[in-house]
Amino acid sequence: MTATLIDGKASAARLREKIAAEAARLKSAHGLVPGLATVLVGSDPASEVYVRNKGKTAEGLGFKSVHVSLPADVSQDTLHAKVRELNADKSVHGILVQLPLPKPLDENPMLDILDPAKDVDALTPTNAGLLLSGRAHLVSCTPAGVMLLLREYVGDIAGKDVLVIGRSLLFGKPAAQLLLAANATVTMAHSRSRDLPAIARRADILVAAIGKPGFVKADWIKPGATVIDVGINRVPAESGKTKLVGDVDFEAAKAVAGAITPVPGGVGAMTIVCLMRNTLIAACAQNRLLPPAV
Ligand code: NAP
Repeated sequence: MTATLIDGKASAARLREKIAAEAARLKSAHGLVPGLATVLVGSDPASEVYVRNKGKTAEGLGFKSVHVSLPADVSQDTLHAKVRELNADKSVHGILVQLPLPKPLDENPMLDILDPAKDVDALTPTNAGLLLSGRAHLVSCTPAGVMLLLREYVGDIAGKDVLVIGRSLLFGKPAAQLLLAANATVTMAHSRSRDLPAIARRADILVAAIGKPGFVKADWIKPGATVIDVGINRVPAESGKTKLVGDVDFEAAKAVAGAITPVPGGVGAMTIVCLMRNTLIAACAQNRLLPPAV
């Protein structure tokens, strides 16, 4: 048996088209151009690539894109002043501060002052709390992307056993809340979980967000299960260069799973488009318009 490949790239392309159409409609009907500001502190090459792609994607959709670059040795106060300036800028509807921040900067006080209405990564305590209360309107981009893929490839997940490995604020915790809200029976595992292979074998849907290449083995997977690989790990390739792999031993797992996301081309492809969707949602909300149809 070979698993169905969950084509995140194709799903993301379809979502991108819908967002572009909604952005065009907002512009012609209301003169509203969604604005996304990215803030990068320091010059980590991977973060630079992520931020550049976010800006380019926003521009490609007809959004306004603002980029703020701050030196690695910027003070916490200067960073906060920049965030406050963007909070007050009416042409900016979404603010993304690329994390992690270089040491000794602390992301928590920065998240405490970031306007929750513009928090398109949904990392502020307000947005985390709204998600817990079932009232979120901005949801973390990667978990949101995973839910869209599950809706498309699995359909109704009510009553299904779902295992999420990883409990980060960015992915594991919000993903578990969204899965629970969709009536799945959710188990969360982490580095202290005992006998992870046995827990994994019970899962109808296994979601891995660990950050360890090939960590989830094929014999952990229930035959026919859906496997969502969130991991993005850079490893040496035979060519002498590097390549991206996920947290699941993909080649072996696809012989057991019913459906599986590749890395790259799976979850990652959805994340950036969901960021644009959040920017659109934020722009509508800040202008007292109905939520966009995306
Ligand atoms: P993270 O903050 O790096 O945390 C990793 C999680 O994995 C922690 O909860 C940790 O448990 C758990 N873990 C570590 N070792 C483990 C083990 N041996 N057994 C079980 N659990 C273990 O997580 P993250 O930020 O969510 O990132 C996870 C991966 O997803 C990374 O590869 C990242 O690059 C990728 N990612 C991808 C996207 C995307 O767009 N596709 C977005 C976000 C993240 P403890 O809590 O006990 O330490």
